[in-house]
Amino acid sequence: MFHAFLIKYGEIGIKGKNRYLFENALVRQIRHSLKTVDGEFDVYKEQGRIFVQCQGEFDFDETVEALKRVFGIVGICPMVQAEDKGFEALAEDVLRFLKEVYPEGNYTFKVNARRARKDYPMQSMEINAALGERILDAFPDTKVDVHDPEVLLNVEIREQVYIYSKIIPGPGGMPVGCNGKAMLLLSGGIDSPVAGYMIAKRGVLIDAVYFHAPPYTSERAKQKVVDLAKIISRYTGPINLHIVNFTDIQLYIYEKCPHEELTIIMRRYMMRIAEHFAKETRCLGLVTGESIGQVASQTMQSLAATNEVCEMPVFRPVIAFDKQEIVDISQKIGAYETSILPFEDCCTIFVAKHPVTKPNLKIIRRSEEKLKEKIDELVQTAIETTETVWIEE
Ligand code: ATP
Ligand code: MG
Repeated sequence: MFHAFLIKYGEIGIKGKNRYLFENALVRQIRHSLKTVDGEFDVYKEQGRIFVQCQGEFDFDETVEALKRVFGIVGICPMVQAEDKGFEALAEDVLRFLKEVYPEGNYTFKVNARRARKDYPMQSMEINAALGERILDAFPDTKVDVHDPEVLLNVEIREQVYIYSKIIPGPGGMPVGCNGKAMLLLSGGIDSPVAGYMIAKRGVLIDAVYFHAPPYTSERAKQKVVDLAKIISRYTGPINLHIVNFTDIQLYIYEKCPHEELTIIMRRYMMRIAEHFAKETRCLGLVTGESIGQVASQTMQSLAATNEVCEMPVFRPVIAFDKQEIVDISQKIGAYETSILPFEDCCTIFVAKHPVTKPNLKIIRRSEEKLKEKIDELVQTAIETTETVWIEE
């Protein structure tokens, strides 16, 4: 019975003259997400509302699932559309709607009519009262409850008439693309995919960089990162994934620097290289999956040490989350099963038994001096040999 959806979006931050940017980004993201669903859809704006119109056959559940992945959507309302043929016809449409959606017929309800066309012969209040009466007549076990109705029946009168009563919650946030772009450091773990999801939820478009260390990390580890990027791209839209060959840099640090400082120094080089690609692709910041205190390289001191090499802001959406909270989101977005596949990532191979937990910046910088001879060249080669993969669901 439903062939259209009314899309509700949040109002915060979209008042004023930038509103159309927000709406256009939302329309674009909805279209993108619906590409994965069988069926033909028309997505359009009309008088401050966004509608999804389904042409012909379509899968209702799949469509709703796809819409639930579009940031910026607060509510998805399956609705019935009808020609405006006067009040009698409207009342009949409403009764047919209620009969089909609530066949038990014993609920409390409230009618909420809105007249977007001021030339309609009845005012909203009159429509509410008249429809209420017709409903009570047709379904004698229903009751009006204007404060806390079980069924809030919305009727909107525009060029056409729209009837809806259910609001399926959307993910909230802002449409991807309306808040610039950032570079996600994406590993094969649990945290960074969640971090990417979370920053994208605020409307930030993401690209990603993965540091690969063959033969210490396998092709399967790389494939896992590609798979994770694919999973988050269902929410974020297509991702450009830069796959950096990090092996020589890692081996060189391993050779020259104290092993307990290895992780920190390695992470500093990851940040530097990620920033290089970020600048090249007009990103406005870096994003990591770090969380305070989770591991030695994520103490406040370690975070300061890795942060120091970046000029760009580094965003860490899960910084104050407990592991379990991150896992919960990971499961919700469908990344968890992939994240826990047991392929080593490049940090676990070279981890020292007792890594420094409170790195002293002066000492770290002095250790990095030992890399002077070859590191610039190695970084340059890593950048030049980086493989970029376009990830789209
Ligand atoms: P994750 O679960 O995201 O792998 P983690 O808890 O394993 O995180 P670390 O290994 O210390 O933590 O990594 C911290 C952050 O550094 C990651 O969240 C990610 O953003 C980035 N990072 C780590 N390893 C890589 C890698 N091989 N490629 C790209 N980014 C990485
Ligand atoms: Mg990791």
